[in-house]
Amino acid sequence: MILFLIYYYMLMGLVGSGLINMIDPMDVEQKIVGFKQNTKKASNMHLIQEYGIKVKKELPLVNAFVCEDNADTAAFHTLAEDEEVEFIEDDYVGTTQALSPTHVDLIQGQQMIPWGVKKIRAHEIWKAFDGEGVRVGVIDTGVDRSHPDLKDNIKDVYGVLDCKNIDDDNGHGTHVSGIIAALNNDIGVVGVAPNAQIYSVKAFDNQGRGRVSDVIEALQWCIDKKVHVVNMSFGFNMQSIALKKAIKAADQNNIVLVAAAGNSGKDNSVMYPAKYPEVIAVAASDKNDNAASFSSSGPEVNIIAPGVDIPSTYIKGSYRSMSGTSMATPHVVGTIALVSSVKKLSAQKVKELILSSAKDIGLPKKTQGQGQLDAYKAVANIRRLYCEQIG
Ligand code: CA
Repeated sequence: MILFLIYYYMLMGLVGSGLINMIDPMDVEQKIVGFKQNTKKASNMHLIQEYGIKVKKELPLVNAFVCEDNADTAAFHTLAEDEEVEFIEDDYVGTTQALSPTHVDLIQGQQMIPWGVKKIRAHEIWKAFDGEGVRVGVIDTGVDRSHPDLKDNIKDVYGVLDCKNIDDDNGHGTHVSGIIAALNNDIGVVGVAPNAQIYSVKAFDNQGRGRVSDVIEALQWCIDKKVHVVNMSFGFNMQSIALKKAIKAADQNNIVLVAAAGNSGKDNSVMYPAKYPEVIAVAASDKNDNAASFSSSGPEVNIIAPGVDIPSTYIKGSYRSMSGTSMATPHVVGTIALVSSVKKLSAQKVKELILSSAKDIGLPKKTQGQGQLDAYKAVANIRRLYCEQIG
Protein backbone atom coordinates (compact mmCIF):
# COMPACT_ATOMS: atom_id res chain seq x y z
CA MET A 1 0.00 0.00 0.00
CA ILE A 2 2.77 2.42 0.99
CA LEU A 3 4.70 1.51 -2.14
CA PHE A 4 1.60 2.15 -4.19
CA LEU A 5 1.12 5.59 -2.61
CA ILE A 6 4.76 6.50 -3.26
CA TYR A 7 4.35 5.42 -6.87
CA TYR A 8 1.07 7.37 -7.17
CA TYR A 9 2.58 10.60 -5.82
CA MET A 10 5.64 10.22 -8.06
CA LEU A 11 3.39 9.80 -11.08
CA MET A 12 1.24 12.79 -10.13
CA GLY A 13 4.38 14.81 -9.61
CA LEU A 14 5.53 13.99 -13.13
CA VAL A 15 2.14 14.86 -14.57
CA GLY A 16 2.08 18.12 -12.62
CA SER A 17 5.57 18.99 -13.79
CA GLY A 18 4.53 18.43 -17.39
CA LEU A 19 7.03 15.61 -17.91
CA ILE A 20 4.18 13.30 -18.77
CA ASN A 21 1.64 14.83 -21.10
CA MET A 22 -1.70 13.28 -20.39
CA ILE A 23 -3.35 13.33 -23.83
CA ASP A 24 -2.65 15.60 -26.77
CA PRO A 25 -6.02 17.35 -27.38
CA MET A 26 -5.42 17.26 -31.15
CA ASP A 27 -5.19 13.43 -31.00
CA VAL A 28 -8.68 13.13 -29.53
CA GLU A 29 -11.11 11.98 -32.20
CA GLN A 30 -14.19 14.15 -32.51
CA LYS A 31 -16.91 14.62 -35.06
CA ILE A 32 -19.11 17.47 -36.24
CA VAL A 33 -22.80 16.61 -36.55
CA GLY A 34 -24.67 19.14 -38.68
CA PHE A 35 -28.44 19.51 -38.80
CA LYS A 36 -30.74 20.67 -41.55
CA GLN A 37 -32.10 24.21 -41.59
CA ASN A 38 -35.12 24.91 -39.41
CA THR A 39 -34.38 22.09 -36.98
CA LYS A 40 -34.44 22.97 -33.29
CA LYS A 41 -31.28 23.08 -31.17
CA ALA A 42 -32.79 21.40 -28.09
CA SER A 43 -34.29 18.48 -29.99
CA ASN A 44 -31.12 18.09 -32.09
CA MET A 45 -29.00 17.85 -28.96
CA HIS A 46 -31.45 15.39 -27.45
CA LEU A 47 -31.31 13.26 -30.59
CA ILE A 48 -27.52 13.01 -30.43
CA GLN A 49 -27.64 12.03 -26.77
CA GLU A 50 -30.22 9.33 -27.48
CA TYR A 51 -27.51 7.53 -29.45
CA GLY A 52 -25.20 7.62 -26.43
CA ILE A 53 -22.97 10.23 -28.09
CA LYS A 54 -21.52 12.99 -25.90
CA VAL A 55 -21.86 16.59 -27.10
CA LYS A 56 -18.73 18.68 -26.47
CA LYS A 57 -19.93 22.02 -27.75
CA GLU A 58 -22.37 23.77 -30.02
CA LEU A 59 -21.53 25.52 -33.30
CA PRO A 60 -24.58 27.79 -33.78
CA LEU A 61 -23.08 29.45 -36.88
CA VAL A 62 -23.49 26.22 -38.85
CA ASN A 63 -26.31 24.57 -36.85
CA ALA A 64 -24.01 21.78 -35.68
CA PHE A 65 -22.51 20.15 -32.62
CA VAL A 66 -19.00 18.93 -31.87
CA CYS A 67 -19.23 15.40 -30.45
CA GLU A 68 -16.82 13.02 -28.80
CA ASP A 69 -15.99 10.15 -31.12
CA ASN A 70 -15.78 7.26 -28.69
CA ALA A 71 -15.08 4.77 -31.48
CA ASP A 72 -18.70 3.61 -31.50
CA THR A 73 -18.98 4.18 -35.23
CA ALA A 74 -22.29 2.30 -35.38
CA ALA A 75 -23.96 5.04 -33.33
CA PHE A 76 -22.80 7.73 -35.79
CA HIS A 77 -23.86 5.58 -38.75
CA THR A 78 -27.38 5.24 -37.37
CA LEU A 79 -27.53 8.93 -36.41
CA ALA A 80 -26.52 9.86 -39.97
CA GLU A 81 -29.66 8.08 -41.20
CA ASP A 82 -31.90 10.42 -39.22
CA GLU A 83 -33.80 12.80 -41.47
CA GLU A 84 -32.93 15.82 -39.32
CA VAL A 85 -29.20 15.26 -39.80
CA GLU A 86 -27.54 16.96 -42.77
CA PHE A 87 -23.94 15.73 -42.38
CA ILE A 88 -21.49 14.03 -40.04
CA GLU A 89 -17.78 14.52 -40.61
CA ASP A 90 -14.47 14.34 -38.73
CA ASP A 91 -13.40 17.53 -36.97
CA TYR A 92 -10.23 17.85 -39.07
CA VAL A 93 -6.98 19.33 -37.81
CA GLY A 94 -5.33 22.02 -39.96
CA THR A 95 -2.03 23.89 -39.60
CA THR A 96 -0.54 27.35 -39.96
CA GLN A 97 1.40 27.77 -43.23
CA ALA A 98 4.88 29.01 -42.35
CA LEU A 99 8.41 27.61 -42.25
CA SER A 100 10.64 27.90 -39.16
CA PRO A 101 11.50 31.47 -38.08
CA THR A 102 15.01 32.83 -38.51
CA HIS A 103 17.00 35.64 -36.92
CA VAL A 104 16.54 39.20 -38.16
CA ASP A 105 19.04 42.05 -37.77
CA LEU A 106 17.55 45.35 -36.66
CA ILE A 107 19.32 48.60 -35.83
CA GLN A 108 18.65 49.86 -32.30
CA GLY A 109 16.50 52.99 -32.20
CA GLN A 110 15.62 52.77 -35.88
CA GLN A 111 12.62 51.43 -37.76
CA MET A 112 13.05 49.25 -40.84
CA ILE A 113 10.42 49.17 -43.59
CA PRO A 114 10.21 45.47 -44.55
CA TRP A 115 10.82 44.68 -48.24
CA GLY A 116 7.29 43.33 -48.66
CA VAL A 117 5.75 46.66 -47.60
CA LYS A 118 7.97 48.45 -50.14
CA LYS A 119 7.26 45.92 -52.88
CA ILE A 120 3.50 46.55 -52.68
CA ARG A 121 4.16 50.31 -52.25
CA ALA A 122 2.09 50.52 -49.07
CA HIS A 123 4.46 53.06 -47.45
CA GLU A 124 3.74 55.55 -50.24
CA ILE A 125 0.13 55.83 -49.04
CA TRP A 126 0.50 56.26 -45.27
CA LYS A 127 0.47 60.04 -45.23
CA ALA A 128 -3.10 59.89 -46.47
CA PHE A 129 -4.36 56.41 -45.45
CA ASP A 130 -3.04 54.01 -42.85
CA GLY A 131 -5.88 51.61 -42.04
CA GLU A 132 -7.45 53.86 -39.39
CA GLY A 133 -10.83 52.65 -38.17
CA VAL A 134 -10.63 49.27 -39.93
CA ARG A 135 -11.24 46.16 -37.81
CA VAL A 136 -9.09 43.18 -38.81
CA GLY A 137 -9.79 39.67 -37.48
CA VAL A 138 -6.73 37.43 -37.17
CA ILE A 139 -7.53 33.74 -36.62
CA ASP A 140 -4.19 32.31 -35.53
CA THR A 141 -2.04 31.23 -32.56
CA GLY A 142 -2.84 34.41 -30.59
CA VAL A 143 -0.79 37.57 -30.28
CA ASP A 144 1.86 39.04 -27.96
CA ARG A 145 -0.38 41.73 -26.45
CA SER A 146 2.48 43.54 -24.76
CA HIS A 147 4.76 43.76 -27.83
CA PRO A 148 5.99 47.38 -27.89
CA ASP A 149 5.70 47.52 -31.70
CA LEU A 150 2.14 46.17 -31.79
CA LYS A 151 0.22 46.69 -28.54
CA ASP A 152 -1.48 50.01 -29.40
CA ASN A 153 -3.20 48.36 -32.38
CA ILE A 154 -4.51 45.31 -30.53
CA LYS A 155 -8.15 46.08 -29.80
CA ASP A 156 -9.48 42.75 -28.57
CA VAL A 157 -8.33 39.18 -27.98
CA TYR A 158 -10.17 35.90 -27.55
CA GLY A 159 -9.47 32.17 -27.39
CA VAL A 160 -11.56 29.24 -28.62
CA LEU A 161 -9.30 26.28 -27.77
CA ASP A 162 -10.44 24.00 -24.94
CA CYS A 163 -7.88 25.56 -22.61
CA LYS A 164 -9.26 29.05 -23.41
CA ASN A 165 -5.66 30.25 -23.63
CA ILE A 166 -5.39 33.54 -25.53
CA ASP A 167 -1.63 34.14 -25.38
CA ASP A 168 0.56 33.41 -28.37
CA ASP A 169 2.62 30.37 -27.32
CA ASN A 170 3.86 29.76 -30.87
CA GLY A 171 4.89 33.09 -32.49
CA HIS A 172 3.05 32.70 -35.79
CA GLY A 173 0.06 34.85 -34.79
CA THR A 174 2.27 37.68 -33.53
CA HIS A 175 4.28 37.57 -36.77
CA VAL A 176 1.15 37.70 -38.94
CA SER A 177 -0.34 40.53 -36.84
CA GLY A 178 2.87 42.55 -37.24
CA ILE A 179 2.82 42.21 -41.03
CA ILE A 180 -0.69 43.69 -40.98
CA ALA A 181 -0.28 46.41 -38.37
CA ALA A 182 3.11 46.77 -36.64
CA LEU A 183 3.31 50.37 -35.41
CA ASN A 184 4.82 53.20 -37.42
CA ASN A 185 7.28 54.55 -34.83
CA ASP A 186 11.05 54.58 -34.40
CA ILE A 187 11.57 50.93 -33.50
CA GLY A 188 11.54 47.51 -35.16
CA VAL A 189 9.39 47.05 -38.24
CA VAL A 190 6.18 48.57 -39.62
CA GLY A 191 3.07 46.83 -40.95
CA VAL A 192 1.21 47.33 -44.22
CA ALA A 193 -1.58 49.24 -42.43
CA PRO A 194 0.11 50.66 -39.30
CA ASN A 195 -3.09 52.10 -37.82
CA ALA A 196 -5.47 49.14 -38.37
CA GLN A 197 -7.18 47.52 -35.39
CA ILE A 198 -6.28 43.90 -34.65
CA TYR A 199 -8.92 41.52 -33.29
CA SER A 200 -6.90 38.42 -32.44
CA VAL A 201 -8.56 35.08 -31.84
CA LYS A 202 -6.47 32.11 -30.79
CA ALA A 203 -7.71 29.00 -32.58
CA PHE A 204 -4.32 27.33 -33.17
CA ASP A 205 -2.14 25.75 -30.47
CA ASN A 206 1.54 26.08 -29.62
CA GLN A 207 2.40 23.80 -32.56
CA GLY A 208 0.22 25.75 -35.00
CA ARG A 209 -2.57 23.17 -35.09
CA GLY A 210 -6.29 23.90 -34.94
CA ARG A 211 -9.53 22.15 -35.75
CA VAL A 212 -12.37 23.01 -38.11
CA SER A 213 -14.60 23.55 -35.05
CA ASP A 214 -12.06 26.02 -33.58
CA VAL A 215 -12.00 28.01 -36.82
CA ILE A 216 -15.81 28.07 -36.96
CA GLU A 217 -15.99 29.44 -33.41
CA ALA A 218 -13.32 32.00 -34.30
CA LEU A 219 -15.29 33.10 -37.38
CA GLN A 220 -18.37 33.47 -35.16
CA TRP A 221 -16.40 35.80 -32.86
CA CYS A 222 -15.16 37.81 -35.86
CA ILE A 223 -18.76 38.20 -37.08
CA ASP A 224 -19.87 39.27 -33.58
CA LYS A 225 -17.04 41.84 -33.45
CA LYS A 226 -18.12 43.19 -36.87
CA VAL A 227 -14.62 42.95 -38.33
CA HIS A 228 -14.19 44.13 -41.94
CA VAL A 229 -11.65 41.50 -43.00
CA VAL A 230 -10.33 38.20 -41.65
CA ASN A 231 -6.78 36.86 -41.99
CA MET A 232 -6.56 33.06 -42.24
CA SER A 233 -2.89 32.04 -42.53
CA PHE A 234 -3.65 28.32 -42.25
CA GLY A 235 -4.96 25.45 -44.30
CA PHE A 236 -6.79 22.15 -44.13
CA ASN A 237 -6.15 19.35 -46.62
CA MET A 238 -9.68 18.02 -46.37
CA GLN A 239 -12.91 19.50 -47.62
CA SER A 240 -15.33 20.22 -44.74
CA ILE A 241 -19.05 20.90 -45.10
CA ALA A 242 -19.06 22.69 -41.73
CA LEU A 243 -16.16 24.99 -42.67
CA LYS A 244 -17.75 25.75 -46.05
CA LYS A 245 -20.97 26.79 -44.30
CA ALA A 246 -19.09 28.98 -41.83
CA ILE A 247 -17.19 30.70 -44.65
CA LYS A 248 -20.46 31.34 -46.47
CA ALA A 249 -21.96 32.81 -43.28
CA ALA A 250 -19.00 35.17 -42.79
CA ASP A 251 -19.20 36.19 -46.45
CA GLN A 252 -22.92 36.93 -46.09
CA ASN A 253 -21.97 39.16 -43.13
CA ASN A 254 -19.99 41.29 -45.57
CA ILE A 255 -16.55 40.25 -44.25
CA VAL A 256 -13.64 39.99 -46.70
CA LEU A 257 -12.00 36.58 -46.24
CA VAL A 258 -8.33 36.00 -47.09
CA ALA A 259 -6.41 32.72 -46.70
CA ALA A 260 -3.04 31.11 -47.40
CA ALA A 261 -2.92 29.00 -50.57
CA GLY A 262 -0.69 26.47 -48.78
CA ASN A 263 2.96 25.47 -48.59
CA SER A 264 3.08 22.12 -50.38
CA GLY A 265 4.62 23.72 -53.49
CA LYS A 266 2.63 21.37 -55.68
CA ASP A 267 0.30 22.05 -58.54
CA ASN A 268 -3.42 21.78 -57.86
CA SER A 269 -2.84 21.77 -54.13
CA VAL A 270 -4.60 24.91 -52.84
CA MET A 271 -5.84 24.20 -49.31
CA TYR A 272 -9.14 24.96 -47.59
CA PRO A 273 -10.47 27.55 -46.84
CA ALA A 274 -8.43 29.33 -49.58
CA LYS A 275 -9.95 26.96 -52.12
CA TYR A 276 -13.50 28.21 -51.51
CA PRO A 277 -14.74 30.79 -54.02
CA GLU A 278 -15.68 33.30 -51.28
CA VAL A 279 -12.06 33.46 -50.08
CA ILE A 280 -9.08 35.31 -51.62
CA ALA A 281 -6.41 32.61 -52.01
CA VAL A 282 -2.90 34.03 -51.61
CA ALA A 283 0.31 32.58 -53.08
CA ALA A 284 3.82 33.72 -52.04
CA SER A 285 6.59 35.49 -53.99
CA ASP A 286 10.16 36.54 -53.17
CA LYS A 287 12.10 39.82 -53.54
CA ASN A 288 12.82 39.11 -57.21
CA ASP A 289 9.18 38.43 -58.12
CA ASN A 290 9.69 34.69 -58.38
CA ALA A 291 7.07 32.40 -56.92
CA ALA A 292 8.30 30.83 -53.69
CA SER A 293 9.26 27.18 -54.19
CA PHE A 294 6.87 26.18 -51.38
CA SER A 295 3.89 28.15 -52.73
CA SER A 296 0.95 25.93 -53.66
CA SER A 297 -0.60 26.56 -57.06
CA GLY A 298 -3.86 25.79 -58.77
CA PRO A 299 -6.85 27.41 -60.50
CA GLU A 300 -8.09 28.81 -57.16
CA VAL A 301 -5.04 31.05 -56.60
CA ASN A 302 -6.29 34.67 -56.77
CA ILE A 303 -3.22 36.79 -56.07
CA ILE A 304 0.50 36.56 -55.18
CA ALA A 305 2.16 38.62 -52.42
CA PRO A 306 5.51 38.85 -50.59
CA GLY A 307 6.06 35.70 -48.50
CA VAL A 308 9.79 34.90 -48.36
CA ASP A 309 12.11 36.17 -45.58
CA ILE A 310 9.58 38.58 -44.13
CA PRO A 311 10.73 40.35 -40.95
CA SER A 312 7.99 41.02 -38.39
CA THR A 313 7.12 41.05 -34.71
CA TYR A 314 7.50 37.84 -32.66
CA ILE A 315 6.71 36.67 -29.14
CA LYS A 316 8.43 38.05 -26.03
CA GLY A 317 8.70 41.47 -27.64
CA SER A 318 11.15 40.17 -30.25
CA TYR A 319 11.41 40.08 -34.06
CA ARG A 320 11.92 37.19 -36.49
CA SER A 321 12.01 36.61 -40.22
CA MET A 322 9.56 34.03 -41.55
CA SER A 323 8.52 32.54 -44.90
CA GLY A 324 5.27 31.00 -46.05
CA THR A 325 1.97 31.68 -47.74
CA SER A 326 1.08 32.50 -44.11
CA MET A 327 3.21 35.66 -44.54
CA ALA A 328 1.82 36.56 -47.98
CA THR A 329 -1.78 36.50 -46.69
CA PRO A 330 -1.43 39.40 -44.17
CA HIS A 331 0.08 41.62 -46.91
CA VAL A 332 -3.26 41.28 -48.73
CA VAL A 333 -5.21 41.79 -45.49
CA GLY A 334 -3.19 44.92 -44.63
CA THR A 335 -3.87 46.27 -48.12
CA ILE A 336 -7.59 45.66 -47.61
CA ALA A 337 -7.34 47.65 -44.37
CA LEU A 338 -5.69 50.49 -46.32
CA VAL A 339 -8.38 50.64 -49.02
CA SER A 340 -11.12 50.27 -46.40
CA SER A 341 -9.75 53.32 -44.58
CA VAL A 342 -10.31 55.29 -47.80
CA LYS A 343 -13.92 54.18 -48.12
CA LYS A 344 -15.97 51.23 -46.89
CA LEU A 345 -17.17 49.15 -49.82
CA SER A 346 -18.99 45.82 -49.85
CA ALA A 347 -16.80 42.74 -49.35
CA GLN A 348 -17.41 41.77 -52.96
CA LYS A 349 -16.32 45.20 -54.26
CA VAL A 350 -13.19 45.14 -52.08
CA LYS A 351 -12.26 41.73 -53.46
CA GLU A 352 -12.74 42.91 -57.07
CA LEU A 353 -10.72 46.06 -56.40
CA ILE A 354 -7.76 44.20 -54.84
CA LEU A 355 -7.64 41.63 -57.64
CA SER A 356 -8.11 44.11 -60.50
CA SER A 357 -5.28 46.27 -59.08
CA ALA A 358 -2.80 43.38 -59.06
CA LYS A 359 0.24 43.58 -61.34
CA ASP A 360 0.97 40.84 -63.88
CA ILE A 361 4.50 39.61 -63.11
CA GLY A 362 4.52 37.09 -65.93
CA LEU A 363 4.01 33.91 -63.93
CA PRO A 364 1.44 31.25 -64.93
CA LYS A 365 -2.10 32.07 -63.79
CA LYS A 366 -2.19 29.02 -61.50
CA THR A 367 0.87 30.48 -59.69
CA GLN A 368 0.14 34.23 -59.54
CA GLY A 369 -3.63 34.39 -59.99
CA GLN A 370 -4.46 37.94 -61.15
CA GLY A 371 -0.89 39.00 -60.39
CA GLN A 372 1.14 40.60 -57.63
CA LEU A 373 -0.53 42.61 -54.89
CA ASP A 374 -0.21 46.38 -55.38
CA ALA A 375 -1.47 48.44 -52.44
CA TYR A 376 -0.63 51.78 -54.06
CA LYS A 377 -2.63 50.98 -57.17
CA ALA A 378 -5.53 49.57 -55.14
CA VAL A 379 -5.82 52.83 -53.19
CA ALA A 380 -5.45 54.90 -56.40
CA ASN A 381 -8.20 52.83 -58.01
CA ILE A 382 -10.64 53.11 -55.12
CA ARG A 383 -10.18 56.90 -55.15
CA ARG A 384 -10.63 57.06 -58.92
CA LEU A 385 -13.68 54.79 -58.96
CA TYR A 386 -15.49 55.78 -55.78
CA CYS A 387 -14.18 59.09 -54.44
CA GLU A 388 -13.80 61.40 -57.43
CA GLN A 389 -14.35 64.42 -55.19
CA ILE A 390 -11.14 63.79 -53.25
CA GLY A 391 -8.16 65.76 -54.57
CA1 CA B 1 7.67 50.07 -35.67
